[in-house]
Amino acid sequence: MSVTLQPAMYYEVTARDNNEACRNYKQTFDVPQFYSNDGVHYSVTCGVCGQQMEILTATLLDPQPEVS
Ligand SMILES: [Zn+2]
Repeated sequence: MSVTLQPAMYYEVTARDNNEACRNYKQTFDVPQFYSNDGVHYSVTCGVCGQQMEILTATLLDPQPEVS
């Protein structure tokens, strides 16, 4: 992981698929509302190949979204 997330916060993240076998290979995806869980165990998973993507950037959402 190239970024560090605080626990229990929502971020906007961009992530890249590094799986050469996947048609999403080297494509970058934007996740507008990404939850960091405990700040350690989080991942962005490719919907095509099911592998974990590399998180490139993470921007803390301000304000944090209201989630019920
Ligand atoms: Zn993939």
